[in-house]
Amino acid sequence: MALIVQKYGGTSVANPERIKNLASRVARYKALGHQVVVVVSAMSGETNRLIALAKEIMPDPDPRELDVMVSTGEQVTIGLTAMALMDLGVKARSYTGAQVRIVTDSAFTKARILKIDDERIRADLDAGNVVVVAGFQGVDEHGNITTLGRGGSDTTGVALAAALKADECQIYTDVDGVYTTDPRVVPEARRLKSITFEEMLELASQGSKVLQIRSVEFAGKYQVKLRVLSSFEEEGDGTLITFEEEDNMEQPIISGIAFNRDEAKVTVLGVPDRPGIAYQILGPIADANIDVDIIIQNTGADGTTDFTFTVHKNELNKALGLLRDKQKDIGAREIAGDEKIAKVSIVGVGMRSHVGVASLMFKTLAEEGINIQMISTSEIKIAVVIDEKYMELAVRVLHKAFGLDKA
Ligand code: ADP
Ligand code: ASP
Ligand code: MG
Repeated sequence: MALIVQKYGGTSVANPERIKNLASRVARYKALGHQVVVVVSAMSGETNRLIALAKEIMPDPDPRELDVMVSTGEQVTIGLTAMALMDLGVKARSYTGAQVRIVTDSAFTKARILKIDDERIRADLDAGNVVVVAGFQGVDEHGNITTLGRGGSDTTGVALAAALKADECQIYTDVDGVYTTDPRVVPEARRLKSITFEEMLELASQGSKVLQIRSVEFAGKYQVKLRVLSSFEEEGDGTLITFEEEDNMEQPIISGIAFNRDEAKVTVLGVPDRPGIAYQILGPIADANIDVDIIIQNTGADGTTDFTFTVHKNELNKALGLLRDKQKDIGAREIAGDEKIAKVSIVGVGMRSHVGVASLMFKTLAEEGINIQMISTSEIKIAVVIDEKYMELAVRVLHKAFGLDKA
């Protein structure tokens, strides 16, 4: 007997038929003698609908109130899922995040899980129930409802698997595993049988939304056995996230390509080049809990510097406002924002043992006339910021150049 956490995303609970289908799979696992915890997202499109509704009332919605209403999508699907299981004669009970007590910090709309009370779930499992838990939501220590950021149900699934010391966490979605890149953008993309935890972490952090980054972080921290599978197919092993690198010569240089349009660029122009300037610019941004990704600074011949960094698009106006308030103190000539950017990243542990990876990437982009605005690297990643309109082209040519479309 194993304890398995199965997480189903929005498309897997999009309508009653799919919920029934999900319930049949859970019933099969239960019949094999396993204990099953099911985590569900809201029906696909529902979270977007709720956010749009909030914006009709308040263009920049109050984060606490937004979480109160946006979290309701998952409350609908847990009830329906439990009913679908009962209808098949499987004992089931559903819980919201607050009922479980998935305790988070109070960073509304992007809260982090601090701890999970697993007593109730364990008691229910021991009594023979399937436990259905709402993804994406938690409760802070003051009893406020919080949400975990877009795609956060993955994190609920993995965090529950870690808390319950589950034998496996299965992420069921609308693709049958992790691909070399998003198969919707590059039809030649291939499914990977396995991918290292480190690579998955980079891909997720660079925008592959197949897994939310925090879910991968949890899997790494608590060594959760994590697998991505299709909810539309009965068979298939999906992709296993492994903790050991395969020690073979065939190791590809690049395992995958990630991309996103979620970031915007902030440029602070004509800043005097003096110690403390980076802190003066980024201090207020950090104090406002705005995450910064790539940072670059260039010193011009006239002794002033241009300081550029990227933030999430949702936080661009807030960042620009904060900097404009301080423009005089900073001594900047101009503060500009650009939303029309995209980031494309190549990821692979094979990069460690190969030279010339960056030059092949830059050459490939140059041949298409794609200008690189920013570059950021780590041991296993090279990311570039380019004009948004070239994003898909960049992904396709890089996929080919690095031989990812060959089996
Ligand atoms: P769910 O609603 O099940 O959580 P998501 O839409 O969040 O599903 O994530 C699955 C989607 O992630 C896929 O449909 C695919 O378009 C996208 N995706 C992006 N990068 C990859 C990748 N490398 N491999 C597989 N899917 C990817
Ligand atoms: N329903 C939430 C979202 O759309 C959480 C999730 O699907 O993982 O972001
Ligand atoms: Mg998702």
